[in-house]
Amino acid sequence: MISKYDEFKIDKIKLSDEELARWQKLLKKINDLNKHAENSIKPECCPICSKSITSLCKSHSLPAFVLRTIADKGYIKSCKELIGINPKKTYIGVKEAGVFYSICRECDSKYFQDYENPETLAETFSPLMMAEIALKCSLFYLHKRYKEKALISLYRKNNLPNLLDSEVIEMDIEEYKKDYEYDIYHVKKNDSNGYNLGYYKILPYVVPIACQIPIALVLDLNDCLVNDVYYKKPNYKIENCIVCIYPLKDSTIVALFSRNKNNRYRKFFKQLNKLDLDTALEKINYIIFKYSEDFFLSNTLNEECVKSILDIVSESGVFFTRDKKFKQDFYIENYTLKQSNQLPNLLIEQYALNR
Ligand SMILES: [Zn+2]
Repeated sequence: MISKYDEFKIDKIKLSDEELARWQKLLKKINDLNKHAENSIKPECCPICSKSITSLCKSHSLPAFVLRTIADKGYIKSCKELIGINPKKTYIGVKEAGVFYSICRECDSKYFQDYENPETLAETFSPLMMAEIALKCSLFYLHKRYKEKALISLYRKNNLPNLLDSEVIEMDIEEYKKDYEYDIYHVKKNDSNGYNLGYYKILPYVVPIACQIPIALVLDLNDCLVNDVYYKKPNYKIENCIVCIYPLKDSTIVALFSRNKNNRYRKFFKQLNKLDLDTALEKINYIIFKYSEDFFLSNTLNEECVKSILDIVSESGVFFTRDKKFKQDFYIENYTLKQSNQLPNLLIEQYALNR
């Protein structure tokens, strides 16, 4: 029987030379459209300082020094390489990973100094650092949704199938814009009341995964609803918490926090803090793969590990609509955190990178 992993992994399907050539041609076309979309959304002015931009800054969705920690000869894997979309490109260079262009150089070097510093990050996790991380996330995801919006019309023009829902993208853009306003206010004011650090641990070893991602948690550890993600009403706001995994020189920072304007995470954070360390890490590990595709992995992970991760990743992101009323059974079946032991827990010492 062909597993989900094999279905997704193009190089496992054994395409004929002709099929492979067709696939490569399609990939090239998609790549060209991506570049086109990227160019079409370049802002004329920096959203932070409003100055006109002559050349945009190459920003990273998470600090490059964090990615370098898990890299092997400068290479890592993002979700794309893990799935094996392009059989000829199985790794990504740290310099190209999570890169996006949306602000000017001056703002990029001015507003993220506190958390984009390995020494500070190894010792503390201040409210200002949380504000900076949240701001980087808002900018990255706004950019990502703008690009998806541009891609929808490009795909249509080129008669390519489109899996994106423009209505959901519009709603996401509005939500990320509000988060951006909140975050930039707190960064500029250095206001210590903007964020709630829900979970924080320094692990004395280096894990093979790095991420900095907003997650709209659906169920907490008792299967109680946190976000009704498929309920589509303009006045219902999805609330995110931000999950950070930062492998450093000889330790790893694990942190989860939410914006203080959002109250839905209080119970979940309490539940998480009551668990023993390994179980809490197991839940966080599962949440990352279940809810996001924006993580980066060391390419030294073994095939078995990758296989189980892909089974979970390929299950998520199937629904692009929120057009369903809350159905307890549906959510429990898909989002319960009680099955978190199905995945190898990359955050425990067993998977630590040998330094
Ligand atoms: Zn600027």
